[in-house]
Amino acid sequence: MARWNPWHGCHKISAGCANCYVYSMDSQFEKDSSAVVKNLSFDLPVRRKKDGSYRIASGDIVYTCFSSDFFVEEADEWRKDAWAMIKERSDLVFYFITKRIDRFYVSLPEDWGAGYDNVVVCCTVENQDRADYRLPIYCGLPIRHKRIVCEPLLEKLDLTAYLSSGIEGVDVGGESGSKARVCDFDWVLDLRRQCLEHNIGFYYHQTGAKLYKDGRLYHIPRKYQHTQARKAGLDCPN
Ligand code: SF4
Repeated sequence: MARWNPWHGCHKISAGCANCYVYSMDSQFEKDSSAVVKNLSFDLPVRRKKDGSYRIASGDIVYTCFSSDFFVEEADEWRKDAWAMIKERSDLVFYFITKRIDRFYVSLPEDWGAGYDNVVVCCTVENQDRADYRLPIYCGLPIRHKRIVCEPLLEKLDLTAYLSSGIEGVDVGGESGSKARVCDFDWVLDLRRQCLEHNIGFYYHQTGAKLYKDGRLYHIPRKYQHTQARKAGLDCPN
């Protein structure tokens, strides 16, 4: 598993961004997260070792753009080169999450066609309003591997209208951090039910810092948020 952050910084655009971890991390260093900058590691996927082989070994999964949004406006020109690197490394799987699926076509390569097979584009939705805006766009796009990410999950969601559109899985989680909003376990169970009914993979990644379950509010320390979600035993690979 490799991480590739070709650029850094972003703008808050919806409710899910309120406690963005990029802003939280940068605030510790008094850094302005809204200034989008190209990173020194921009060309990481095509960097080579002294022996000529690629630094990132063939077959790896590359988690991409986790300190920005792949479709952020300032990166429109840089994204052309990023796509070229992704195409060159067709032996890797690139995985990224976006809140800007409505900008998908900006700087898309001409040979994209039905989509590169080595790219998983995840569309994130945090509430019903954003689901009903982003998912109709997402479902109609030429992307070979699609996943919906409901994280931070801020309310009960009905995704049934979108789950028959080639979606491979739904990833769910609560919000972390000192200002985390509550995630109700019933919302998680309801999304799981929807996925099972549509024969779609379901993954509960983390509880978040505030979990409401069986009439009680639990404050869960960061180090247990992933393990507690796993212990719930809700994951259903399709
Ligand atoms: S889109 Fe993502 S990276 Fe950008 S501000 Fe929102 S949460 Fe942060």
